[in-house]
Amino acid sequence: MFDKLRQKLSKTRELFSKIEQLFQSSRPQEEILDQLFELLVLADVGVATTEKIINGIKEKSKKSGSTDLKALLKQELISLLSQQSATVNETWPAVWMLVGVNGGGKTTSAAKLAYKYQSEGKKVMLAAADTFRAAAQEQLFLWGKKLNLPVIQGQAGADPASVVFDAVKSFKARNYDLLLVDTAGRLHTYANLMAELEKIKKVISRELPGAPQEIILVLDSTIGQNSIVQAREFNRFSGITGVFLTKLDGTAKGGSVLAVVEELKLPIKFMGVGETEKDLMEFSPESFVEALLS
Ligand code: GDP
Repeated sequence: MFDKLRQKLSKTRELFSKIEQLFQSSRPQEEILDQLFELLVLADVGVATTEKIINGIKEKSKKSGSTDLKALLKQELISLLSQQSATVNETWPAVWMLVGVNGGGKTTSAAKLAYKYQSEGKKVMLAAADTFRAAAQEQLFLWGKKLNLPVIQGQAGADPASVVFDAVKSFKARNYDLLLVDTAGRLHTYANLMAELEKIKKVISRELPGAPQEIILVLDSTIGQNSIVQAREFNRFSGITGVFLTKLDGTAKGGSVLAVVEELKLPIKFMGVGETEKDLMEFSPESFVEALLS
């Protein structure tokens, strides 16, 4: 697993290898930290988060007297990424919503989660609540066919909340374990979209008390700092429990993971590292940092 993570993060690792080289130089610590600042910003960690990391290293170094900058950086990154618990709420039966802008990887991520839990013996069902885009429904339907699991769909243009209502009814009647609800990523305005998502959430909790157990924001890591802007919009919608960070395989912007956790105060729960249903990895701060700096 660890080797796979290292390999999938290879583009981001290229940037972090410059940090390793930097630590081997014999220049004064102050200069090295200035250079580290630049490299972290280049890796899309974001200025505010980078400042916090550098200050943390300085403080820890002063307190402990340690000059092992690599070890101090690792500690700092792990503690930053561990601010929120990445534990997934696996109480069954569960309804999870996936939210996020179109193109970020929502549908693919729903398929990955479906495959993961299906492989663990759970009965999984999908609901296509993006009734505004025929292509989105079609795509989820094809995933359902490939993974051999039911997909509840509505007519084009149908009220998404009514599709979800039908889906939860069927989910309960058939005694399934996990219902994954793929939602729309765009409406005329963000306010409309947020209202739509609230409505869906209300229907879910009315039909199944305690649900949705997870509301997962799907974010595209290749857009780096822009993912923070997007996430801020979605954070206006209440109850997001964590992030599924996608496309980490093709990007050097993996540093945005740190900005997501620090600036949005949301835990990363899953990582997308490819286009197939198998390309999902659970997030662990220790292995992520170890994979970048080892
Ligand atoms: P949606 O509009 O949010 O539902 O996004 P899709 O699930 O349709 O994904 C958009 C594109 O991103 C598709 O071409 C996916 O194959 C691709 N994609 C999704 N997740 C990943 C990932 O983790 N890695 C890579 N390389 N591509 C991904």
